[in-house]
Amino acid sequence: MSDTIAAIATARTPAAIGIVRISGADTPAVVDRVFAARSGKCAAQLPLRRLVYGHMRTAEGKVIDDGLCVLFAPESSYTGEWSAELHCHGAPVVLDEVLRCAFAGGARQAKGGEFTRRAFLSGRMDLMQAEAVADLIDAETAECAQNAALQLSGAMSRGVEQAYDALMDIAARFYAAVDYPDEDIEPPEQREIGETLERCRSGLQGLLDTFRRGRILKQGVPTVLLGLPNAGKSSLLNALLGYDRAIVTEVAGTTRDTVEEKVRLGGRLLRLCDTAGIRDTADSVEKIGVDRAVAAAEQAELALVVLDGSAPLTGEEERIFALAEKAEHAVLVVNKIDLPQRAEPGVLEARFPHVVHVCAATGEGVEQIGEAVRMFYPEEAGVGGVLLTNSRQAEAVTRALRAVERAQAAVASELTPDAVLTDAEEALAALGELTGKSIREDLVATIFSRFCVGK
Ligand code: GDP
Repeated sequence: MSDTIAAIATARTPAAIGIVRISGADTPAVVDRVFAARSGKCAAQLPLRRLVYGHMRTAEGKVIDDGLCVLFAPESSYTGEWSAELHCHGAPVVLDEVLRCAFAGGARQAKGGEFTRRAFLSGRMDLMQAEAVADLIDAETAECAQNAALQLSGAMSRGVEQAYDALMDIAARFYAAVDYPDEDIEPPEQREIGETLERCRSGLQGLLDTFRRGRILKQGVPTVLLGLPNAGKSSLLNALLGYDRAIVTEVAGTTRDTVEEKVRLGGRLLRLCDTAGIRDTADSVEKIGVDRAVAAAEQAELALVVLDGSAPLTGEEERIFALAEKAEHAVLVVNKIDLPQRAEPGVLEARFPHVVHVCAATGEGVEQIGEAVRMFYPEEAGVGGVLLTNSRQAEAVTRALRAVERAQAAVASELTPDAVLTDAEEALAALGELTGKSIREDLVATIFSRFCVGK
């Protein structure tokens, strides 16, 4: 922990402002090697948490850029150590030069996520909050960012801490009864334990219940585009994306593989999979595409069924409709409304409560699909307003929940205190992993390795 680290914290692209970040005990000394305040004060004399104007310079005194420096003492810094930010003009060459001078001044290159890892190790945040930092940076929708910001503020950690403290209290009382049988310590009252365990169970279950929505929020709704060849699936995908991503041709069976894209629609992120048109085919390559389409349809939560409204129904659509009905939600998209309509979607309305009419070629009407999506996936408040979005966290919550349920069963069947204790300890261990209170160092390393450099 004692090294002083530095990294460029902003994107490596020309921009108005770019930031080099430094953290570690030697930060003031490193700052003095790179930054000269206009006031002539050295880092030790600079006001803390205030932007100070000056210039960045090399060890030989050559000016690199003018800019601002802000210095943080350990008690008020992100990492819990001395740290600083140098705000320069955002030219990659300027930032590289400032960073090089910071290295010459004694800092070393920070690894991915190392600033946040230090924040975690110094107790500035728990592991759930640290993971929220990565989620916030990677957020693809405003709602996803808000959820991560709430998690970062500790909204979820507080609920988990309550369950942890309650279980710890039960465990401590059982320990006393088990370890000192001669001391005449009463085992904790069964009713009280029962109530505490139930509070923990329902809290953890509530948290876990938010995971499905949370995962959709973060990763997007798995969505499949289904339809006969030439119905206009690829055209619709392009209309939704706003640019030509999929190959659109007049030859039936062009989309032989599946194409996946993320698209924001109705305020939600959709993971949209364009598929080969589903039809019986003798062409072996096309057949693989059809099989993949069927597989994609089986995994989808939302099916967009594209129907060429200018062609009469042939009966070939049946297989597609049956597949779409397996998804949790389906929208029948009647396409080519610019042409005379020959299909009779009226007969299908009983089957698909959500029918929209569009012209994929021009994008007319596609916003109605967004309205349906908004209705299927309304905004939903999770526990303390936060949704669980991370599979590592969901797995730990599940383990804690199962252990609490076993403890409840042990209490109900009046098993010996040590049986209850074993389960309570298991739940505590899982919650400790969740918050990072007790987690293996290699797991911590793996978690932070997916962070970007400078965070
Ligand atoms: P896919 O096989 O279902 O992916 O269908 P495509 O998107 O490749 O479209 C098949 C043909 O229908 C192409 O010639 C498109 O230009 C045409 N097409 C797609 N959408 C429309 C539409 O809204 N109106 C008209 N007139 N033609 C369309």
